[in-house]
Amino acid sequence: PARPHRNLVYPSSMAPRHKHNSSIRIMQWNILAQALGEGKDGFIRCPLDALNWEERKYLILEEILTYSPDILCLQEVDHYYDTFQPIMASLGYQGSFLAKPWSPCLDVEQNNGPDGCALFYRRSRFSLQATAHLRLSAMMLPTNQVAIVQTLSCRATGRRLCVAVTHLKARSGWERLRSVQGADLLQSLRSITSQGGPSSPEEGAGPVPLVVCGDFNAEPSEDVYRRFSSSTLRLDSAYKMLSSDGQTEPAYTSWKIRPSGESCSTLDYIWYTHDALSVDCLLDIPTEEQIGPDRLPSYHYPSDHLSLLCDLSFREGPHMLI
Ligand code: NDP
Ligand code: CA
Repeated sequence: PARPHRNLVYPSSMAPRHKHNSSIRIMQWNILAQALGEGKDGFIRCPLDALNWEERKYLILEEILTYSPDILCLQEVDHYYDTFQPIMASLGYQGSFLAKPWSPCLDVEQNNGPDGCALFYRRSRFSLQATAHLRLSAMMLPTNQVAIVQTLSCRATGRRLCVAVTHLKARSGWERLRSVQGADLLQSLRSITSQGGPSSPEEGAGPVPLVVCGDFNAEPSEDVYRRFSSSTLRLDSAYKMLSSDGQTEPAYTSWKIRPSGESCSTLDYIWYTHDALSVDCLLDIPTEEQIGPDRLPSYHYPSDHLSLLCDLSFREGPHMLI
């Protein structure tokens, strides 16, 4: 059967319109590491066949190609060199990969190497100005979580955009570590986005606008979420715009059943500099009915996390020239 269709939703504050010429399409997705899905996660209601890599990889690629993002941020990538890098390169994307220092994939027999974060951008649209591969630390100590930060320059306008991808520490009981990892990432981002002057007449002299995509492994009630939403980087979470009041995160971005029980939670986010960028549209979240009683992953949805997708535009106006 066909996969349920997901609609692009135009927030009520925006007049409905087609993809804005200059808007930048961002996709965020924890694609579920193959070694973890088969060897560690214990998704008891997911049919084994649905986890077969030779089929699952086409569902992941189909979803990416359907929405054709300009920037793609992935977590739990353990098939970068043999799958995503060559295929995305042939489609005109430049990729960067950073493995977790001690990936749990390596504990799984017949693993395909460590999992990590990957960041792809469309080469025809952007040129690369700088890359930082970060190992997140906590109280000066290195942790097992990483981030990639790239400063891109828009070929058409010379405008710069800084993009980050991360995957914070999982599981309950680790809220404090996630918060400190988030603080460390924010500090690095403050330093990276404040560097350098304007590179084009259209660009103001202020900090470089920022997009941070990630599996934060944290509900909106957690400290790390509060840190991001109240940061001096003036970040807002794009998916709040999907709600009727514009203030509420989706009810879930991940939904799975393990032996320990069912877990339905909002863990994934696209943060953006709200006074420099605006959200034009978002890909809606499948309903409970579309997801089905066995939850995720499934024959229709190749990961236990849903992809998030939005179009962002640079805001125009004199306040951007400060
Ligand atoms: P995390 O706790 O961050 O989780 C790693 C992965 O496990 C995530 O991708 C997460 O997915 C998934 N996960 C979350 N909850 C569960 C669950 N209940 N059951 C199964 N999987 C789950 O791991 P760390 O990065 O801190 O790494 C810990 C692992 O790293 C150890 O278990 C060990 O295997 C390995 N390690 C090895 C060392 C060594 O010396 N060899 C040293 C340190 C670590 P999601 O984000 O989607 O929730
Ligand atoms: Ca996972």
